[in-house]
Amino acid sequence: MSSTRVVELKDVSKSYPGGVVALRDVDLAIDYGEMLGIVGPSGSGKSTLLHIVGTLDRPSAGTVRIAGHDIAGLSDRKVSALRARRIGFVFQQFHLAAGVPVLDNVADGLLYAGLPLRERRREAAEALERVRLDHRLDHLPHQLSGGERQRVAIARAVVGSPALLLADEPTGNLDSSAGEAVMKVLRDLHTAGTTVVVITHDREIAAELPRQVHVRDGRATGGES
Ligand code: ADP
Repeated sequence: MSSTRVVELKDVSKSYPGGVVALRDVDLAIDYGEMLGIVGPSGSGKSTLLHIVGTLDRPSAGTVRIAGHDIAGLSDRKVSALRARRIGFVFQQFHLAAGVPVLDNVADGLLYAGLPLRERRREAAEALERVRLDHRLDHLPHQLSGGERQRVAIARAVVGSPALLLADEPTGNLDSSAGEAVMKVLRDLHTAGTTVVVITHDREIAAELPRQVHVRDGRATGGES
């Protein structure tokens, strides 16, 4: 196994109770520093794949290695620790804490790291600068536009410098100009060295990404780099 790989899935299948086979024999290799799209229509298996790559779920068969660790050999607790340190998530619905200022929403992304609050806030301010929201530190989420909220969510996801950023339909709730601003932030993070995976059903967004993995009926094409 090569150490250039942040994600390595081999022959991964996932069945749900009731007999739905959501993924079939998926191979997926992602190198550190890549940016790619996981693309496919609704129901094709993208979210299932995201959950497995994000270690939120385990496969029914096959192997999953994240940052060199074979997930099958790790307890749920170890997997949670790996996820907290190595993986950042961005969701369509932003998932910010209501009533909590922007700075602390982002600083909470470092809760696992055992840093004092002052240090967490300092790193959060830096992350907010990277998404060009350093002028909104004291605002509450409801005082921000949708695009700004998503950029806060991105700052929270990357504040601990994760090996992997997983963005699930990050522009799904945004108009096209806010969506474009969010995609620019993701591209800038990629340019600065972050590994970025964008899950999308939007072909236009997918077409702008350097690599596409297509998912259809639980099978992936383009998964081998
Ligand atoms: P996508 O993200 O591309 O819309 P999903 O990964 O959500 O696709 O779903 C793939 C297939 O698995 C679909 O047929 C869906 O109905 C099914 N599925 C997803 N989650 C579950 C679940 N928890 N239980 C049973 N079936 C599921």
